[in-house]
Amino acid sequence: MEGKIIIVSAPSGSGKSTIIHRIMESGNVDMEFSVSATNREPRGQEVDGKDYHFLTTEDFMRGIERGDFIEYEEVYPGRFYGTLRSEVNARCAAGRNVVLDIDVKGGERVKRIFGDRAVSIFIMPPSVDELRRRLEARAVDSPESIGERVGKAEYEMTFAPKFDHVVVNDNLDKAVADTEKVILDFIGSGK
Ligand code: ADP
Ligand code: 5GP
Repeated sequence: MEGKIIIVSAPSGSGKSTIIHRIMESGNVDMEFSVSATNREPRGQEVDGKDYHFLTTEDFMRGIERGDFIEYEEVYPGRFYGTLRSEVNARCAAGRNVVLDIDVKGGERVKRIFGDRAVSIFIMPPSVDELRRRLEARAVDSPESIGERVGKAEYEMTFAPKFDHVVVNDNLDKAVADTEKVILDFIGSGK
């Protein structure tokens, strides 16, 4: 049987990476992370090939021309992110489930492409003010980048009704448990 796609989207700073990492570390869910490509610079402890495939803008554009991406978005001006076919297709064909951490537009698009083979989950922050506090506390983005992310959050939050499930990330443990339950219900089994 073909593997399934788990889409996790949210405004930046909502906690989606933290939630995905916690679920993967728990070992309760049989899914693999799709490493996206981006032309942004690595930040903090990020590792090439693990967190992202960090590409030059030129290489990213070449990837678009070659048809390497299932979808891609210019999430912030000049900064591109894309889901690579090479991260998703072979694994799904081999029956493995794949989780995508992608922006709200990409999430909506991938759900449309994969239909019932995908579940889409929107991680909702308690408020935009709390989102700003989390981005500041994460301390890896410049003040300009934080402003850009917070500025886009309200618009991104209007995408929530387009998703199959909305999980509010107020209490992290509860958000992890709620997200894990949605995924397990969808893929039909634990490990
Ligand atoms: P995203 O991947 O959506 O951009 P992150 O997972 O990096 O967001 O989370 C942003 C910051 O908020 C991180 O420093 C993370 O530790 C913190 N965080 C995540 N969830 C919560 C929560 N429920 N309460 C407080 N801080 C949180
Ligand atoms: P960050 O710079 O914080 O890692 O990511 C910024 C935004 O880009 C986040 O909303 C993240 O989910 C999104 N993103 C990461 N990978 C992809 C992708 O492959 N496609 C799309 N559309 N968005 C992505």
